[in-house]
Amino acid sequence: MKPLPLYAEPPPRATPEPARFRNPPAAYRALEAVYRDLDREIARLAPRCDARGICCDFDRADHVLFASALEVDYVKDHVPRERWARPSGNRCPLLTGDGKCGAREFRMLGCRTYFCQPGWSAHAADLYERHYARLKAIAAEHGLPWRYAPALAQFRYGATEPAAAERPG
Ligand code: SF4
Repeated sequence: MKPLPLYAEPPPRATPEPARFRNPPAAYRALEAVYRDLDREIARLAPRCDARGICCDFDRADHVLFASALEVDYVKDHVPRERWARPSGNRCPLLTGDGKCGAREFRMLGCRTYFCQPGWSAHAADLYERHYARLKAIAAEHGLPWRYAPALAQFRYGATEPAAAERPG
């Protein structure tokens, strides 16, 4: 009888990992540290969120979500392409059918700081400005160009990029 293998090959992933990240992993680790600090500050302030998804539907919320390329690249490198590259009108492509964020762990600074609770805007501006400055510093430290633009346009542009596995060096 044929001996059983000591361990089996892991099953193939449904969505392959990117062949390489768009930015140095150390820049992403620094970005994650900023997000952790920010989330801790927000948790202490305990704003109310009813998770209706209105803030991710930009016509209904009447705003434009801006983000740096570093933040958007982080989403693209961690969320399956078919989720962020899909057509979605003026809504975030990551918004799920039940009004939830489909990339909560990886979402951008503007997503983390936005709450529609009355009186929150002063907190949002302060939190955003301080943590935005840290993101700029990360880009500078790692020699990355600083690009800041509407997130939706960046996802759309990304949808025409070659798939991760085909990206040149
Ligand atoms: S990434 Fe998530 S929280 Fe941010 S706009 Fe998209 S669905 Fe909303």
